[in-house]
Amino acid sequence: MPRIEKADRTGFCFGVKRALGKLEKIASERGGIETLGAVVHNRRVLERLAGIGVRTVSSVEAITGDTVVTSSHGVSPDVEEGIRARHIEVVSTTCPFVRRAQMAARRLAEAGFFVIVFGDAGHPEVRGILGWAKGQGLATVEPAAVAALKPLPRRLGLLAQTTQVPADFATFAKKIIDLALARDAEIRIIDTICHDIRERQAAALELARRADLMLVVGGRSSANTNRLAELCGAVTETHLIETAAEIEPGWLKGKELIGVTAGASTDECDVDEVIARLEGLV
Ligand code: SF4
Repeated sequence: MPRIEKADRTGFCFGVKRALGKLEKIASERGGIETLGAVVHNRRVLERLAGIGVRTVSSVEAITGDTVVTSSHGVSPDVEEGIRARHIEVVSTTCPFVRRAQMAARRLAEAGFFVIVFGDAGHPEVRGILGWAKGQGLATVEPAAVAALKPLPRRLGLLAQTTQVPADFATFAKKIIDLALARDAEIRIIDTICHDIRERQAAALELARRADLMLVVGGRSSANTNRLAELCGAVTETHLIETAAEIEPGWLKGKELIGVTAGASTDECDVDEVIARLEGLV
């Protein structure tokens, strides 16, 4: 019979717990509240929040109330100014680790550095960080996008989306160093990957190396959940699932050790549901 093992690090991260605590308090005090964008990338959590009157709006123009909550991913200063210009109060739940990356982008830009954020250009956290660089930057995971800058800025500042894989950021940074140092450049690298993500990835990878199958529980739109699935998928068979109901019994055939891990915005009770279903199937 296969054994089932949960990775050492699961459950909400510090930033998500903090954001949800603030949001639940304000929603219960006011009987409902709007958030600008999904406060976390987890459909089940958002459904639970909807039950206490939390409504997600996708743009500043769509806000109907006099207060809006911004997500743990943070927003750019322009977006905050746009909200305040409409005389709407902003309650920020920006994670302190994201804030650190935003402030690093601002400092670099103010010091004359062109800011390169190693990350997904379409992700709200990355758009927010770049916004603090006041237009002096770009977001990419491709060194070629930096090489294509004509001319290549002489002063380059490198940051990472908080949920990136440290080894990937290191590889990217080395390529930028190779590219730029031959051209009289000055480079500053600031490691802005969050420590929760670093420990969660290390724990998942340690388990994945021993397991015959890994299940990664979390939202398909969650950046850190996808990174976990990619990391585990490089060493063993891996499936990203949002709920226990998605487990296919065929996956378990012939397996000795089944590992379970979860993204930073996945509730521990969802992980426990997955383990309970696995125990019923093996
Ligand atoms: S994953 Fe890290 S940076 Fe993102 S919300 Fe959680 S603690 Fe903050």
